[in-house]
Amino acid sequence: MTHIDEVYGSLVFNDHAMQERLPKATYKTLSQTIKEGKPLDADVANVVAHAMKEWAIELGATHYTHWFQPLTGITSEKHDSFITPQEDGRALMSFSGKELIQGEPDASSFPSGGLRASFEARGYTAWDPTSYAFIKDNVLCIPTAFVSYGAEALDKKTPLLRSMAVISQEARRVLALFGKTPTKVVTTVGAEQEYFLIKEKDYAERLDLILTGRTLFGSAPCKGQELEEHYFGAIRPTVNRFMEELDQELWKLGIPSKTKHNEVAPTQHELAPIFEAANVAIDGNLITMELMRKLASHHGLVCLQHEKPFAGVNGNGKHNNWSISADNANLLDPGSTPFDNLQFLAFLTAVIKAVDEYQGILRMTVATAGNDHRLGSNEAPPAIVSIFLGDELETVVRAIINSEDYNYDGNKVMDLGVPTLPTFIKDNTDRNRTSPFAFTGNKFEFRMPGSEVNLSDANIVINTIVAKTLADFADALEGSKNFEHDAKAYMRKTLTDHQRIIFNGDNYADEWPIEAEKRGLLNLKSTPEALQQFIEPKSVEVFERFGVLNKIEIDSRYDVKLEHYSKKINIEGLVTARMARARFVPAITEYSTVVAQSINAKKAVSTSIDTSAEEALLDKLTAGLKAIAAGIEALEASLEQAAAVEDSLEQACVYRDDVLAAMNNLRCSVDEMEVIVGHNYWPVPTYNHILFYT
Ligand code: ADP
Ligand code: MG
Repeated sequence: MTHIDEVYGSLVFNDHAMQERLPKATYKTLSQTIKEGKPLDADVANVVAHAMKEWAIELGATHYTHWFQPLTGITSEKHDSFITPQEDGRALMSFSGKELIQGEPDASSFPSGGLRASFEARGYTAWDPTSYAFIKDNVLCIPTAFVSYGAEALDKKTPLLRSMAVISQEARRVLALFGKTPTKVVTTVGAEQEYFLIKEKDYAERLDLILTGRTLFGSAPCKGQELEEHYFGAIRPTVNRFMEELDQELWKLGIPSKTKHNEVAPTQHELAPIFEAANVAIDGNLITMELMRKLASHHGLVCLQHEKPFAGVNGNGKHNNWSISADNANLLDPGSTPFDNLQFLAFLTAVIKAVDEYQGILRMTVATAGNDHRLGSNEAPPAIVSIFLGDELETVVRAIINSEDYNYDGNKVMDLGVPTLPTFIKDNTDRNRTSPFAFTGNKFEFRMPGSEVNLSDANIVINTIVAKTLADFADALEGSKNFEHDAKAYMRKTLTDHQRIIFNGDNYADEWPIEAEKRGLLNLKSTPEALQQFIEPKSVEVFERFGVLNKIEIDSRYDVKLEHYSKKINIEGLVTARMARARFVPAITEYSTVVAQSINAKKAVSTSIDTSAEEALLDKLTAGLKAIAAGIEALEASLEQAAAVEDSLEQACVYRDDVLAAMNNLRCSVDEMEVIVGHNYWPVPTYNHILFYT
């Protein structure tokens, strides 16, 4: 194995490479662009492009691509080679500043929710110089934003960058009240990615996994996760080799992969990188997911990133650790200096207010067909958004609300006028794994996102709503003659108004939804319901006010999400019916025939022989076949009905209420057969087999 420091970032045109390869003046201008978001002029772009190309070619690159994130959430790329043919029959390798800064992919095949129909059909990609270019499979990849010619965002990155800019702007206003003028305020994200690794051989046998990413059939394995032996357990050698290769490749790309371990479910694992600026972290997460899928095949494995690959077994989530920093100082760190603590409390208050006021849009960001199987099913936080603060911080908040002194440790009484939070609050928080939005010492961990999603949506919303509540703080206190007093009064009022969102108890408990309802918190159980929050006037108002998304962009995104939900379930429904018809019915029929033949054979020997066991089995198999046949018909009828519904919201509801129910009925009938049909007759690998391999 090579030394990490030798390979780390070797495939990235990072600051080090830029310093080494760019003329000093160009480097300075580019750095300014990166640090302060200044526009890049054409001359500078040409110099940068040339240096980037030379660097990439030395590392074996032959093509370049504008790498972007359309609304499907996955990444897109179209490779163009560097060649420019010459008159003498040879070719030069060229790459201009224009090609670096702007590209024109054929946008027509990307989902836009009707946006491009009403505007200019074409879209263009624009370089995001705050995320470094990198080389993947001999292609120079340039992270870009994707927008229409009317400047409407057609991707996930554009609004993310906008949201980072607005929260930075509002945070500066708040910091100015504390006498601070940082040069850089940035939101940070660390994305913990969960995934399953199963054998390629098993995967290849299952149409459901291949086409939908999850098993649509399968009875529970005899052994589940009840022994709790997998979490943090020793990692299988094959998996270890996969993880080693993955780390190596990630490090080459400058993605700071840090922690890897087994997760709760058998064959489930997790990778956590060190946090970075939100847009860089999200680019990194998308590359990580792609590499996981690709590298698994080197080890005879397949990486499953669906939120719920196996029913009854823990699914995959993606924890979004979020914070905001000013000149690299974490603003959510409680710290130890008194004045900074008031500042910490200002930011904390802003987050609490934002999450309460906009719980609906936050819930919306994690609404997908796949994630609906996780939220609220005793493994992921429920669909109700709430905040966990931990005992000590909650005591602080209560003290502010009640205008009391904060009594810490029974002997030290602190006056909140100079609030001094002990730094070791860090170690005492968390370990409540059930909360959807938990304060974990110096950051918030949003635990609702599913493993498959692009985290941009979640962070666009967090950034925008916190920008809004920071703006509220600044609006209220700019010009205050007695800042400390007024700030405390503001916090007291705000925390009092929004305390219902704070819940330190067990979010999985049956009592919680009842309690949450009393508090007036939203409980949006399914995607179609949750998506409505996106188009509510309150949502449009906040996105438009801060210029993160306009009404047209919101409507288009809403359409794409709703359509995506229906399409996903439609595919699952078709695969369910197909597998039942083409795989399970023939297998059960074959086995029934064998049983029937056995009865006949025995009776031929002697009519007095007892064949009651076989007969009972045959009865069950026959009844099962009948139920399956009826189940297929019912499912196909509901699929037809759903497809015929014109209104997209109504259609999504039919998929949710009728198609999913019909799929489930059919699945139950098939799963009942799985446990009585002879192993050799069952046409696909079962949970027992897939989840427990050596
Ligand atoms: P756990 O499993 O306890 O949730 P991990 O150590 O696996 O914790 O993951 C914590 C994640 O939070 C890491 O990705 C880490 O880099 C990230 N993180 C730490 N500090 C910050 C911060 N200030 N902003 C954003 N993410 C952070
Ligand atoms: Mg976590």
